[in-house]
Amino acid sequence: MKPKIAQVVVGLPVEGPFDYLIPDVWPTPQPGQRVHVSFQNRGRVAYVVKLCPQSEVPVARLKPLLEVLDEAPSVDQYMLQVTHALAQYYGCSWGEAIEAALPAALRIKRIFASSVAATSPASEIPAQQTIFCHDLSGRRQWGFLQSQIEGAVAKQMAVIWLVPEVLMIPKVCTALKAWGYRDVAVLDKALTAKEELAHWSGIKIGESRIVVGTRSAVFAPVRRLGLIIITDEENLAFKQEQSPFYHARKVAEIRQQVEGGNLLYVSAAPSVELWASMKGNERSETQWKEIPAQQMGRLQLIDLANYKPGKRTIIAFPLQNMIIDTLARSEKIVLWFNRRGFSTLTKCNQCAHIIKCERCDVHMAYQDSRKQLVCYLCDHAIPLPERCPGCGGVYLRSLGSGIERLESEVARIFPQARVTRFDKETSRIPRNADIIVATQAVLRILPELSVALVGVLSIDTELSRIDYRAAQRVFSLLVYLRQVARDKVVVQTHHIEHYALRCARDLDFIGFYQQELGLRKEMGFPPFCHWITLMIRGKVRDEAYNVALKLHESLNQQRASAEWEVLDLQPDFVPKLRDKYRFHIMLKGPSVPQMLAGIEQAVKVAKRKKDVIVTVNVDP
Ligand SMILES: [Zn+2]
Ligand SMILES: [Zn+2]
Repeated sequence: MKPKIAQVVVGLPVEGPFDYLIPDVWPTPQPGQRVHVSFQNRGRVAYVVKLCPQSEVPVARLKPLLEVLDEAPSVDQYMLQVTHALAQYYGCSWGEAIEAALPAALRIKRIFASSVAATSPASEIPAQQTIFCHDLSGRRQWGFLQSQIEGAVAKQMAVIWLVPEVLMIPKVCTALKAWGYRDVAVLDKALTAKEELAHWSGIKIGESRIVVGTRSAVFAPVRRLGLIIITDEENLAFKQEQSPFYHARKVAEIRQQVEGGNLLYVSAAPSVELWASMKGNERSETQWKEIPAQQMGRLQLIDLANYKPGKRTIIAFPLQNMIIDTLARSEKIVLWFNRRGFSTLTKCNQCAHIIKCERCDVHMAYQDSRKQLVCYLCDHAIPLPERCPGCGGVYLRSLGSGIERLESEVARIFPQARVTRFDKETSRIPRNADIIVATQAVLRILPELSVALVGVLSIDTELSRIDYRAAQRVFSLLVYLRQVARDKVVVQTHHIEHYALRCARDLDFIGFYQQELGLRKEMGFPPFCHWITLMIRGKVRDEAYNVALKLHESLNQQRASAEWEVLDLQPDFVPKLRDKYRFHIMLKGPSVPQMLAGIEQAVKVAKRKKDVIVTVNVDP
């Protein structure tokens, strides 16, 4: 019998699927096809996920599908399964997961013509392996990766190669070309919607069998997936920072379960979670490939307790001497300092008034390059007021030291050097400078620079971040810097005994991960348990707070019978952003599905207010 009902999902945080009538005269649509429907009295793109002979809803109350938007399904059978599993894990709707997997151009009502036949899942998924390549060689030697790619291509299978940064893509493409591959497609954020769709379609019809891209390329619609490579697995860019808050690693794992193929992680200092899962894993298909360092910069720690930097400088004396030596040899220096702007605070000396961003309620920093006060959260900029808004006096002063202040200070101490700055706003690689003062952003271009000496000035700020990954991030950063610094990496710190610093100096991987895993176990952090952040935000502070309070109460009540813990309701680390007040509730426990069920229950009780948005971030 011909199915009469199409079950569809939409890209909104709503449950589903929803039943729609298939008009009698139409050919039957296929699962994975996009359709146009009226949903909550608005026209919307929806995705057919299933066909049924009948609905539980009386036919009289069902609306018909309005239009079919795809000639062949945009979402194939595999991707339907992958997005379904993704939605279940991350607590988003199936429709939201599907939209995360599709090019932006297909999320709007627009006909997509393609000659692709629907692919149906193979009855048998190909053998799968998970491999970790511990690559200390300095990221130029991809011989092992080449052999893995060859293996997949020889079996007529497709390869997805993920990198954390758009800037790395040309290098990967050049390598692939040198190995003789011509059918390479790129998927990344830098593409326009039109380009993205063109590349995506090429991959879907099998024109390109190798895909290179950033995070979202993990959804590339390749046929016969043979290998996914994730380079620099520990990089935070692989985690999506908006709903659905997916991690490319998790998506790759799901794809491997659904479609088969190999998964290859490449990193010098991976996340603790990955290290634990690979080392502690006795499965025979798991492999470990060690590529030793050939040449690495030494790491030297300077104890700031002994060499207190002077009042006017933040560069410790021994580091100043090393800079002078390096300059004398006409070699390049990078000074790493992770704070943007000239100052971190602008304050009145008379009445202590502090200038804050009116939308985010945080201090505004003066940026010399823009001659303006800038909010580091939302980028809102205002001219520096001539008079204090508090008392009308003329005693506004900028305090703290940002990257711009450091730049002028370095230029003063080393008048013989060409000094330049590299931060998020800089796009050109500063090839002609002797000393580059730089923020985090410099990591992207370091391999291009051939640097002799890297001075790390703000590692203590990194170590004291409120983030359970802080130690691992510092460890990974320092190992990375050692790979790109020819001569040495010098770190000035007040925490000379910190294990992340010592292990990075001694290249003691086992020591670091053991100690970190021990601490994580003790504190109940991943990989020993899962965390979920519930974010509640709204324009009216009390409304948001009341919803948060109700959610928190309900979660606490359920706790008695559940295996998870609920932490206190708190204003978020960013309490106000772009005019919205933000609160968060954190849960931790062994089972994500259990916690999500609890959250679902709480949301029902709290009755979401229209102007209050609640988002769920699994494994934040
Ligand atoms: Zn702001
Ligand atoms: Zn004042």
